[in-house]
Amino acid sequence: GDRKKKLRVFFLPFFARGHLIPQTDLACRLAAARPSDVESTIVVTPANASLIEPTVSRATASGRAAVHILPYPFPDVGLGPGIECLGAAPARDEWRVYRAADLAQPAHEAVLRAHRPDAVVADVPFWWTTDVAAELGIPRLTFHPVGAFPQLAMNNLFAVRADIVGRPRGRQLVAVPGMPGGKEKKEVAIPASELPDFLVRDDHLSALWGRLKAAQLAGFGVVVNTFADLERAYCDEYRRVDARRAYFVGPISQPSLSAVGRGGDGDADCLHWLSTKPSRSVVYVCFGSWAHFSAAQMTELALGLEASNQTFLWVVRCSSDEEDSDDADVPDEAWERRVAGRGVVVRGWAPQLAVLAHPSVGAFLTHCGWNSVLEAASAGVPVLTWPLVFEQFINERLVTEVAAFGARVWEDGEGVRSVRREEADTVPAEAVARAVAGFMERGGRREKAEVKVKELAERARTAVEEDGSSWRDMHRLIDDLMQARASGPKMA
Ligand code: UDP
Repeated sequence: GDRKKKLRVFFLPFFARGHLIPQTDLACRLAAARPSDVESTIVVTPANASLIEPTVSRATASGRAAVHILPYPFPDVGLGPGIECLGAAPARDEWRVYRAADLAQPAHEAVLRAHRPDAVVADVPFWWTTDVAAELGIPRLTFHPVGAFPQLAMNNLFAVRADIVGRPRGRQLVAVPGMPGGKEKKEVAIPASELPDFLVRDDHLSALWGRLKAAQLAGFGVVVNTFADLERAYCDEYRRVDARRAYFVGPISQPSLSAVGRGGDGDADCLHWLSTKPSRSVVYVCFGSWAHFSAAQMTELALGLEASNQTFLWVVRCSSDEEDSDDADVPDEAWERRVAGRGVVVRGWAPQLAVLAHPSVGAFLTHCGWNSVLEAASAGVPVLTWPLVFEQFINERLVTEVAAFGARVWEDGEGVRSVRREEADTVPAEAVARAVAGFMERGGRREKAEVKVKELAERARTAVEEDGSSWRDMHRLIDDLMQARASGPKMA
């Protein structure tokens, strides 16, 4: 009967790569963890399907994973490479992102009703899956692509939102209340200008945030891409307050099996170039899959990297992805000639996991997207932080203050970054050069960070090995879902 049938789990990733990649990898790993018990299906839009299909077909060799393509001509609306959403206008603000998620509701609901899986793992913005899961009598889990520390910080900030809105958004520090931390507890504080939009900007967004949290808490549980040793106090607290069941299964993406790389010739070229460089000598510069710099900032960054005299690998997203392609020619050919030999630009997409795993890479200049933070920690690469939007400023605090494996790229005398998004400030080339060169020099801040991050990498490795904390949570997740199915509907 039912018990012998495989557990059919459907995964509903949000369209952005920072969500799509870890959730695809999670689906594959869940199936691979117990191939005789579990089969995974990933529900994606047509353009995203081509991004993940190679990974999924490789995964199928070790466990059953499939791609289900939504039957709509989802128009690409310029949210970034391969990101599509129904009818939403091209934009980068948070409200539009969530709006896109809501527009996808009917298509996803139809798939779930037609296939009636045993469980659904839905991305955070898909709060509405709660209802369809209840209707089908199946467990609904939230996939959270962001760790316990930033989630708790955002919850706690949300609780004091009334005090924050309407205050000037300058560099005045807002203390994050109620964070755990034990004896060595440091107060977590963040300048008002760096708070996520949903906290300060408009009521639509904050009402939506409330809905997302309610759906998460009402669901069967939450799967989080982190590992306990990265942020232990926060994981413990998270289990207590933020989910009925929490599964910390990260780092999910592994160089051997991940939707991250494309595996094309370009990948091989950049890895080959790295192999010609000394150990720990290269600064890897990448700002994730959709962060946007002005043309002026791109120019300063290019000049700064040049002036740093360091060896670097810089990923520049193709301007054809952009609605405003004013940065089409940055960096220009003259610049490329000047840095030839020690600076390489990858246009579009680099195989980040493989790059970070390469012994020649000695530092990572990152925007602090959660995946990048986790991937750096897991690869043992110290980071220079340059957050831009969303919860990236909060992730930065985990990196620089809590787990202490990195430093900020840009600070003024008061220890507070003076680049505020409100003012669209530009970090000047000299500051970039000073920060990068200073970080890399002998006796620089990198050395301390390196000790910490090597230890974290070791812990990340053991977390996913047999009987490690993430391995156990992955198996507990499967056991709990099997148990829920055996107990029949309404466990959801
Ligand atoms: N990534 C990559 N190559 C690139 C840019 C990004 O492989 O050139 C991957 C990166 O490894 C990570 C994801 O894309 O898994 C980006 O997620 P993150 O949370 O760091 O940032 P986001 O793109 O969501 O801002």
